[in-house]
Amino acid sequence: MAIDGRPLISGAGIAGLTLAICLKEYGEDPVVVEQSPELPDQGYMMDFYGSGWDVADRMGLVDKLRALRYPIDKLQFVNSEGKPYTSVPIKRMKRALNGKYVYVRRPDLLRILYERAKALGVEVRFGTEVTDLRERVTHVDVMFDDSSTGEYALVFGADGVHSGIRQVMFGDESQFARFLGAYVAAFHVEDHDLPFRRTAQIHEEPNRVAFYYPLSERSLDATFVFRLDEVDVPPDHQLSFVRRAFKGAGWIAEALLEAYKGKAPLYFDTLTQIAIPRWSRGRVTLLGDACGCLSLLAGQGSHMAMAGAYLLAQELRRYDGNHSAAFAAYEAMMKPEIARRQEDAAAFAKIFIPTTQSKPWVRKLVTKTVFNPLLLPLTMGAFGSKSILESDED
Ligand SMILES: Cc1cc2nc3c(=O)[nH]c(=O)nc-3n(C[C@H](O)[C@H](O)[C@H](O)COP(=O)(O)OP(=O)(O)OC[C@H]3O[C@@H](n4cnc5c(N)ncnc54)[C@H](O)[C@@H]3O)c2cc1C
Repeated sequence: MAIDGRPLISGAGIAGLTLAICLKEYGEDPVVVEQSPELPDQGYMMDFYGSGWDVADRMGLVDKLRALRYPIDKLQFVNSEGKPYTSVPIKRMKRALNGKYVYVRRPDLLRILYERAKALGVEVRFGTEVTDLRERVTHVDVMFDDSSTGEYALVFGADGVHSGIRQVMFGDESQFARFLGAYVAAFHVEDHDLPFRRTAQIHEEPNRVAFYYPLSERSLDATFVFRLDEVDVPPDHQLSFVRRAFKGAGWIAEALLEAYKGKAPLYFDTLTQIAIPRWSRGRVTLLGDACGCLSLLAGQGSHMAMAGAYLLAQELRRYDGNHSAAFAAYEAMMKPEIARRQEDAAAFAKIFIPTTQSKPWVRKLVTKTVFNPLLLPLTMGAFGSKSILESDED
């Protein structure tokens, strides 16, 4: 063991579980606290490749990812009647990424990581969160919401875009949040009779875009992204807010939102990035979306969360538990990579959702061009297909 005491990780998400696994494999004894009462069983669909793939490969998890099966052979851009105008075989995506590509739902990735963490004996405490931290010379005193306390050698804030650890250490989120002018909402629908033939679909209209992913013949995941000014939306208004934003939308948007049985979307948030000048202070550091949220438009938030966690653990081992040196090296490696991707995603946000001025024929031409088999490897290059671990010596 290189770290002098137990490390505490706040957040059993993609970054937190990856870090816990890596630290445990290096002989440390991390404990993870997670706000939610259990792992989620529903969530949004993601593209998985690049740095995330590379980390999963090094953790021996690629076979589990490949074993996930969704009935999706094609990605299609469809018009208001559901008629495709651009069709991309998934095999073409795989070829462009040398076979290192899968669709994965966030809950599936979490389950795969959690099972590995449990098999290694990592302690995960659900329904628990940190309320306060006090840094001492040799450790951090931590207070939890159940009034218990603990002494930890290091504390890692892997608790997502609205990180509680970041709030305690660095202050209010509003200082670091960059609103990209849109909202995101995700849904899961069972027992539908909508016509999906092994095809993921994207339907775009001025100021709104919908993504549909079949999971079985009768169930699907949907993600809606829509442009609106930032307003306060209480949880019990989120569903009506999304329904209003998609009123009159083409294809199946309105039918799906009507068919949705939940009281609120599975996921609802503003499209926001987090840019924070320092990621670490003393014995505490941040990782994943907590310090470098890219937004879904980068298409690689989970990859960078896993890569950051992996590199952070590696630096702690390289510096034999000297956290100051390890945190500085981790930040020096990751921060420029995150900043560059954030700039790209913020620029993409301006064109990703059509405006009322957008010309449909131009957008059709662009989608056909960027998914052309010859250009697709270049397109994916702009979305992080090259792993940031490729130059790594280990
Ligand atoms: C709709 C959508 C689509 C996306 N698509 C893609 C994609 O195609 N490809 C891709 O790579 N990325 C995608 N992303 C981004 C990706 O999901 C995130 O970047 C990634 O989940 C970040 O991982 P994380 O571990 O930092 O945070 P999270 O996965 O958000 O995990 C944070 C964890 O911390 C917990 N937590 C929160 N607060 C506290 C607290 N106070 N105390 C304890 N625990 C707490 C949360 O419950 C959660 O379990 C998408 C995101 C969205 C919203």
